[in-house]
Amino acid sequence: MNLVAPLAGFAIPDFPAGPLPRRQAVSVRVGKVDVGGEAPVVVQSMTNTDTADIDATVAQVASLAIAGSELVRITVDRDEAAAAVPYIKEKLLRRRIDVPLIGDFHYIGHKLLTDHPACAEALDKYRINPGNVGFGEKRDRQFGTLIELAIRYDKPVRIGVNWGSLDQELLTTLMDANAASAAPVSANAVMREAIVRSAVLSAARAEEIGLAREKIILSAKVSNVQDLIAVYRDLARRSPHALHLGLTEAGMGSKGIVASSAAMGILLQEGIGDTIRVSLTPEPNGDRTREVQVAQELLQTMGFRAFLPVVAACPGCGRTTSTVFQELAKTIEEDLRKAMPQWRERYPGVEQLKVAVMGCIVNGPGESKHADIGISLPGTGETPTAPVFIDGKKAATLRGPAIAEDFRQMVAAYVEQRFGS
Ligand code: SF4
Repeated sequence: MNLVAPLAGFAIPDFPAGPLPRRQAVSVRVGKVDVGGEAPVVVQSMTNTDTADIDATVAQVASLAIAGSELVRITVDRDEAAAAVPYIKEKLLRRRIDVPLIGDFHYIGHKLLTDHPACAEALDKYRINPGNVGFGEKRDRQFGTLIELAIRYDKPVRIGVNWGSLDQELLTTLMDANAASAAPVSANAVMREAIVRSAVLSAARAEEIGLAREKIILSAKVSNVQDLIAVYRDLARRSPHALHLGLTEAGMGSKGIVASSAAMGILLQEGIGDTIRVSLTPEPNGDRTREVQVAQELLQTMGFRAFLPVVAACPGCGRTTSTVFQELAKTIEEDLRKAMPQWRERYPGVEQLKVAVMGCIVNGPGESKHADIGISLPGTGETPTAPVFIDGKKAATLRGPAIAEDFRQMVAAYVEQRFGS
């Protein structure tokens, strides 16, 4: 067969690559960060320290911000926590960490924000769960107070519905109406409708009270991937507001990462979502910044944003019986991540860098040529040399016990030469 013959009578299908156009949500300013509108999808995270512990909270907010979190949410659950907020903000600013802080309120937010004006002022956004603002006739009054406080302090609000604390009155009303309907739908569909309706109606109520549309972000979190996709598709259709995406109770380790990425990846591809959080359960004493890293990697691998240089590494196979290339790939990735807080300032555009670390000559040289700088390590039985490619051309051949260190130095020199002033 002649593979290079003209493709007579054969049409190459031109499948469009890339996401659907981004849904144009109303733009909201949170501190110095824009969410929605033309802004890129924003990464946020949440602390798990006791907010009343000022030093611990400052340290964790700082580490999340340094890792790249563009918004950080903190729990404000009692007077001591509310009283600590202005000190936390001040200490962060003294460390030149000006990340917007979001206060997470449940049940007594109206009271805490009324009793602690310095907290109301220091926060950059309030998060309110309409299922948790109070019960019976108190609910509307307390929701109204929270919105009035947001108006008084000129702060945006996230109305964050969560299926675990869904407004039971609304759910029961919809369930009863569904049971009486001639064509009832599934209980799950009613639950999804209740979640979307709670968000949309709460936003309408907030606007009625006087909160500008440009001050409202909505979220509607559930813990099941298919439900999350369905809920956000519906919410995006029925609301003009900026949307915060997140799978609630995503879980630990790979399960949480896969579930969040699957759900949010599909929605982002459809142009839905203006800010994201990956709600991972950390290991005991685990690193809280992992959720920031995963959120960044999700956005970067989908091509929406660039945060960090990418290291392409092959998975290894029977041709790589030593761990040299795995260790080198890991070291290079760690080096780049550690260096990024300084590099971001010093080397504008460095987040676009592509490095390849490959295990043998089968795909090694090819993949390395496609990277900005790449190395093809010797596989089992190959000559113990490692060609390095820079900008698609062979630039050196490394050999000997210091291959890994030599390559690290070449990466650093390449960054300086290409991105340095
Ligand atoms: S590049 Fe070589 S070592 Fe890596 S997966 Fe392919 S064949 Fe295996």
